[in-house]
Amino acid sequence: MAKKVSVNEQTVNGRTSTGDVYELLRRKILEHSIPPATKINIDQISKELGVSATPVREALRLLQGDNLLVATSNKGYATTPILDAQGVRDLFELRLLIEPWAARTAASNRLQNPAKELEREIKAFDSTSDSIQHAMIGHDSKFHRAILLSTENQTVIQAFEQSHCHLHLFRMFREDWDWKKSLNQHKLIAKAIAKADPAGAEEAMRAHLNSAYLGFIEGMPRLNQGRPLAKVSSSKLIQK
Ligand SMILES: [Zn+2]
Repeated sequence: MAKKVSVNEQTVNGRTSTGDVYELLRRKILEHSIPPATKINIDQISKELGVSATPVREALRLLQGDNLLVATSNKGYATTPILDAQGVRDLFELRLLIEPWAARTAASNRLQNPAKELEREIKAFDSTSDSIQHAMIGHDSKFHRAILLSTENQTVIQAFEQSHCHLHLFRMFREDWDWKKSLNQHKLIAKAIAKADPAGAEEAMRAHLNSAYLGFIEGMPRLNQGRPLAKVSSSKLIQK
């Protein structure tokens, strides 16, 4: 487990915080401007950002906590490889165990019903506010997290957060991703939760996850440079 570092910690010159370095490097890793499975050159990053090695090292530890980096020998770091087909499948199997249940629970719980927050999040989504990849990471993680949090089950919430599923899946984001389809599916989930329709909410979430899984798998041959997907079958996930 990575040591917890305050993301607001300021460097001596007070200009660039650990949080700024963390955000910048996270973005570079997600966009592949630092490619997967690549050694990190701390001196070079410090020089590029004009900061000392301290905030860079602290940011790297946070990124290790996100599973975007692994420690290498001689106190260095390297970016983790991108998920393979099995990794994507594992993440979606976890999500399919947790999230349809969470949507059902959210729709059943009248006191903690997150419908207003979900509607706000859908309305606030702006595809032009940033690159579509980063706009979707922000929106999708907040949307799914709001549903999870409303269950108030800390064990499940922790398991979900420790998977860092949004970071790892959106690291595989493609420019041709049908984000409008995802947004429409979110609207259906939010609507069922607002109507306090547990069965409808569960079903809408399951359909959304199955659709997202197929979207990621379809994009994989290119991402995995032709690695065969013969062992990946969506049938297990699709079955009800
Ligand atoms: Zn989603």
